[in-house]
Amino acid sequence: MADALQNFIDGKWVDAQDGERFDVFNPATGAAIATAPHSKPADIDAAVAAARRTFDEGTWWPGTAARRRGRILLNAADIVRREQERLARLESLDVGKPIAEAREDIAEVAFMFEYYGGWATKIAGESQHVDADAMFMVWKEPVGVAVGITPWNYPMMMATQKVAPAIAAGCTFILKPPEQTPLTCLELPKILEEAGLPTGVFHVLTGFGETAGAPLVAHPGVDKIGFTGSREVGKLIMRSGADTLKRVTLELGGKSPNIVFADADFDAAVEGSANGVFWNQGEICSAGTRVFVERGIYDDAVNAMGERATGIVLGDPSDDGITMGPMVSREQQERVQHYLEVGAGEARLAAQGSTPQDPSLANGYFVPPTIFADVTNDATIAREEIFGPVMSVIPFRSVDDVIAMANDNDYGLAAAVWTNDVKKAMRTAQALRAGIVWINDTQPAPTEMPWGGYKQSGVGRELGKQGLDDYLEEKAVYLNLS
Ligand code: ADP
Repeated sequence: MADALQNFIDGKWVDAQDGERFDVFNPATGAAIATAPHSKPADIDAAVAAARRTFDEGTWWPGTAARRRGRILLNAADIVRREQERLARLESLDVGKPIAEAREDIAEVAFMFEYYGGWATKIAGESQHVDADAMFMVWKEPVGVAVGITPWNYPMMMATQKVAPAIAAGCTFILKPPEQTPLTCLELPKILEEAGLPTGVFHVLTGFGETAGAPLVAHPGVDKIGFTGSREVGKLIMRSGADTLKRVTLELGGKSPNIVFADADFDAAVEGSANGVFWNQGEICSAGTRVFVERGIYDDAVNAMGERATGIVLGDPSDDGITMGPMVSREQQERVQHYLEVGAGEARLAAQGSTPQDPSLANGYFVPPTIFADVTNDATIAREEIFGPVMSVIPFRSVDDVIAMANDNDYGLAAAVWTNDVKKAMRTAQALRAGIVWINDTQPAPTEMPWGGYKQSGVGRELGKQGLDDYLEEKAVYLNLS
């Protein structure tokens, strides 16, 4: 019997006002595991009215001391740690990610609450004397009612990296989780309530982009949108949000270069490059899917990365022995399969893993990890974001060549550089048009480090102190002392 999930609005668990629901699936088997409210504009209005009231009445901010907001977030961190295994199992079931990876996600969720819990008491303005009898102060105030619209690849992390700084800042918050994977996001109200968050501050509504996401973006009662998702929807949000001049933070896709110089530590570079594409089934916006390898080590690197790909064990994500799960949905599986066909016509298939043989997983959304070699930088599989376990390997001859190719893409989220020459590493990092550059590593995203893209990979930054600043306004208060 599938669970009937509910929205959380103004402290109450409720269905959509018209009672409509949609199914949530286990991607490893294709079986329905839950139903969730199909929220519409009437539900959105109710959540915005509650979040607006709580904010405008001032009972939350400025009515709650910063140290209490901080305490609530620190309590939430403790609760997430206490519930880590249960939450990790839920995330793994819903997304299809290996349980070991889900445990890491949940550990980082706990740390996000802790990190922003620490920031709550350090939000401070400044003051300056401009004359003998005049001065001004700059006060930091919350932007107001903030909305988070989030994707399915890291559901609880993507939500928490918005919710935690928003609460630290004193905003009220409405979360619209991804329709594919709402389970862990609906745990957040329970966690925050137990942590001591007052009623009316945090609300969650499930539903689809056009019927629940778009009305939130257009709503005049909302002050800020924090969005993570596709570039196409990011553009829609920026356009629609412009009508009410909302503050908008966009974390979009990528087609990130991963550059391996011949003087790199070969084993570390091969292992890292493979992880950078195959971790989380390749469903990562920052995945290093364009792997540039210097000519001298090209054949050896393609072979070694091929061995990594064929060594990946696909299977039931709840099984500790597997290293890759299914795609999140049938739609995503078909999308990636389409790119496998396109790639076969554009490049050389260098290696491909195998999908699970277990009959109970026959309807799961599995795609084999795949490496295409001798790809050109203008091939479709090198230009478009695939969001699956598909690597394109591209040879290069010189630093200038590889920098030109790496930057020749509309996206600019992340990049990785593998070399033991520190000058080459720093010069390359400087020349790359990307919001994140890893040197001799790939994919770490510590909560303390700002995260966001150049070019068409986004607007603004999440995580770190920058991730908090985007939930704050600055008020300049001028004082005439004469
Ligand atoms: P993905 O390819 O990761 O599903 P999307 O950008 O389609 O990326 O979805 C990310 C989030 O944006 C989801 O929560 C989805 O429901 C929401 N969304 C999709 N379309 C819209 C829209 N037009 N307006 C607002 N939110 C949307």
